[in-house]
Amino acid sequence: MSSEQKKQPQINRRNFLKAGAAATFLGVAGVLKTPGKFASAASSVQYAAAPKGQWSKIHPVHDMGSAAVRYVEHNDQWLGTTKIVGKIKNISEADGGGGLLLRGKLGDKAFRGFMTQTLRSPINTAIAQAAGPIASPAVMEGKPAPQKMPIPDPEQMSMHIKDLAYFLRADDVAIGKMPEYAYFSYHTLNAFDLAKKPVEECVVPVTERMPYVITVLRDQHLETMLGSTGYDGISDAQSFNAYHLTANISVIIANYIRKLGYNARASHAFNNILAVTPCLIAAGLGELSRTGNTSAHPRLGFRTKAAVVTTDLPLAPDKPIDFGLQDFCRVCKKCATECPAQAISYDADPVEYNGYLRWNVNSNTCQIFRVTNEEGISCGRCMKVCPWNSKEDSWFHQAGTWIGSQNSAGASLLKSIDDMFGYGTEQILDYKWWLEWPENHKIPETLTTTRTSLTGVK
Ligand code: SF4
Ligand code: SF4
Repeated sequence: MSSEQKKQPQINRRNFLKAGAAATFLGVAGVLKTPGKFASAASSVQYAAAPKGQWSKIHPVHDMGSAAVRYVEHNDQWLGTTKIVGKIKNISEADGGGGLLLRGKLGDKAFRGFMTQTLRSPINTAIAQAAGPIASPAVMEGKPAPQKMPIPDPEQMSMHIKDLAYFLRADDVAIGKMPEYAYFSYHTLNAFDLAKKPVEECVVPVTERMPYVITVLRDQHLETMLGSTGYDGISDAQSFNAYHLTANISVIIANYIRKLGYNARASHAFNNILAVTPCLIAAGLGELSRTGNTSAHPRLGFRTKAAVVTTDLPLAPDKPIDFGLQDFCRVCKKCATECPAQAISYDADPVEYNGYLRWNVNSNTCQIFRVTNEEGISCGRCMKVCPWNSKEDSWFHQAGTWIGSQNSAGASLLKSIDDMFGYGTEQILDYKWWLEWPENHKIPETLTTTRTSLTGVK
């Protein structure tokens, strides 16, 4: 008898049991038809628990690369290695970079550049058109299922959610205690309304408060970054693509959690009710870097984009991390030197900003450069040059990042090694796979000469 034939009777027996035929045979079908009883018959979950203390089932140990990482606090004085020195005010989405551009606060050319950013490169347009539906109410919203499904305990459930994120192709995932100040005070329902209407008519207050935040990262792609200058024709597509991918992961996780009977909302680049960076730090996926409000991951640097899910699903949050980035940034300054807009501070130490300490970046200068850049579309030069972006998977780079995470002397050494090998600043043309049409990078004059003539709003 073949092994297929041997298996056959077992499959039939399973189907028989699933279909309820066995129950009818045993005279208990009436019991199963009673709603409450049926629910209780389903009130167990099949799950083989992983050993306690693992990161997840698929990844028992969290892959932080070769950096020396220790866990730190999230309390009233600290968010990871970021010092909190006062009250952190919740900011309005309309006052963020995109909001200021759409409201014409950063100048007319910047407005025209922003309005045409996805149109000046065919690959950008293609990604933007695919990304649109991920922001629609059909996938963003929904009430939790009326009945909560049985689930494992918070630690096992956290492992399960991390594995789900890896299954959906996240490059990293972690869970944090949600910082209340990360929520926007006001959310813009349709960002492009800001170009046409007064702010008050475009925003709604953010009232959600959830205890946990699930954070997911996608790598923006090493080889593409190596082939790029950091501000050429692929820059915006790299960023947009990683936003699109994380958005997709976040809406699926949120929808899944709602199906389990718990509240969950995805927040991603195309529909967001919060500032993502404090969430990443709370979950231990990065430390605040010299580039202002951007955090860097010990393995991926800040060559990533993120999306998050806020939820009341019972979870066991991870802790923030310290891999020595603050000390490293004090010494390094490579992003400041290489920034084509000179938007990044050369200061030795972070300064107070909205109740916490960060390096004093001129965000408006950066925004304007990115949307008016005509050598390419947007900019990610600071991301390209940062020594924490793993440039290659070699023992040499791994040893370097381990040394760099130790202290300021180690930081100087890694920075010198990085410079000596031309890491970050080099462009490897063998990796330049994309097509560019430089004449398309120009910001059209014909669209409008002023924001007022396009939108009718001063
Ligand atoms: S994105 Fe470009 S312009 Fe902005 S800070 Fe980084 S390097 Fe400077
Ligand atoms: S380039 Fe250097 S200073 Fe800038 S964020 Fe990276 S490590 Fe910090």
